[in-house]
Parts: sequence; structure tokens; C-alpha cells
Amino acid sequence: MEKRKSWDQKNKHIHKSRKKIIDTVFGREDNTQRVFGYEKEVEQKREVGDKWTDSDGKEWEQREGYVASVNTFDDVRDYLKKLTTCKSNNCKTEKYSWADKKLISRAGYCVDCNHKFEQELKNDGTYSFYEDYKITCNKLGWLRDHKQELEDNLKYVSKNFEMVYENGHVENWNWDIDIDKVKEDLKKDIDSSYEALELLLNRKLLLENKLRELNHAEIIKN
Ligand SMILES: [Zn+2]
Repeated sequence: MEKRKSWDQKNKHIHKSRKKIIDTVFGREDNTQRVFGYEKEVEQKREVGDKWTDSDGKEWEQREGYVASVNTFDDVRDYLKKLTTCKSNNCKTEKYSWADKKLISRAGYCVDCNHKFEQELKNDGTYSFYEDYKITCNKLGWLRDHKQELEDNLKYVSKNFEMVYENGHVENWNWDIDIDKVKEDLKKDIDSSYEALELLLNRKLLLENKLRELNHAEIIKN
């Protein structure tokens, strides 16, 4: 009998979006990224007690035979508290409503403080730039995801693919399409995504300059 293969090995022929659907349906986590990152760290041959920061800014420590995250529970608790607390210094809200909680997680302010904040921006003439900036950032986020999706599709698109089930059963799927046409269309879409990204990034930069000029650098996101 053939050696038992890992889930990732078995499924490398599946179209990525399809794999995602399968993973979601069966509740499997896509841990390819994590595993890759881990192996990369291990390759560096660390001594026990060594500490380092990875590309996501997360701190790690080499323990006897395994790698542990350095963040203590207090760090996590502080971080969560910050995420769920209104950032205004003059906040008078004593108990957060559902709407408060939702807005705090998105904008950092509770409903009352956000209203005051936006009112101040209206009074000093910043509001239209602030709104434009928010919309531009949202669009950028969406477009980046969309472009990534298109690139993944282009990479994995194929007329036929092999579907391997947990029990070892193999099925071959065929897709009746003009593969060259599909690839060409995807490439065109990717090109226009790049153009749109460039325009949006320029717009974001201009708005950031304007916000600084108006003494509202605190609105600028990293
Ligand atoms: Zn508040």
C-alpha cells in the first residue's frame, strides 16, 4: 500500500478556489502558510533561548525541541482591551451598545465619540477629505484581495484536475473551456487591477498629504 500522504500533498492538483470550498465545508484549516513559515524558521538552526521577530512582527523563542510565541497572556489581554475600548480620552460612554462595539472594532471610537470626531472634522473643513480617504482605503483593500484572487486563478486554472478524497478515491474532472481564452481574460483583468491599484495608491498619497496639511495626521492608516 502507498504511504499515507498529507492533506496538502494529496490536494496539490485541486484548483485553489475549489480546495478552499472543500476546506471550508469540511472545516479544515488552510495552514500552508503557517507550516511554511515554521519550516523556514527551523532551517535557521536556533539555539535554545534564542529570540527573534518574524516578518509579521511576532516574537518567538526557541525552546527545547520546539518554538514558542513570546507574547504573554497580558500582552494579548491588553491588545484585546485596546481593540474593544473607545480610543477617545474624553469618552463618557459607560456601557457599550452593540452599535458601539461594532464601530469601535472598525473605527476605534464609540458612536458618541465618533459623532463628535466627525463633527469636528466638518467644522474645520477636513470631513470631505477624511471621507474620501476612508473610501479610498476600503477600495484599495478590496482591490488587493481581488487581484490576488485573479493571480491565483491564473496560476491554478487548468482544463482538468484530479480530486483525491480522504479514503483514497480519485476522480478526474474535466472542464469544457477554451483554456487560452480564459488565461488571456484573466491576464487582462490582472493588468487592469494593477492600473487601478496605481491610481488608488496615488489618490491615497495625495489625500494623506492633504490630511497632514490640515493637521489631521492621526487619521492616516499605516
Ligand atoms: Zn467613546
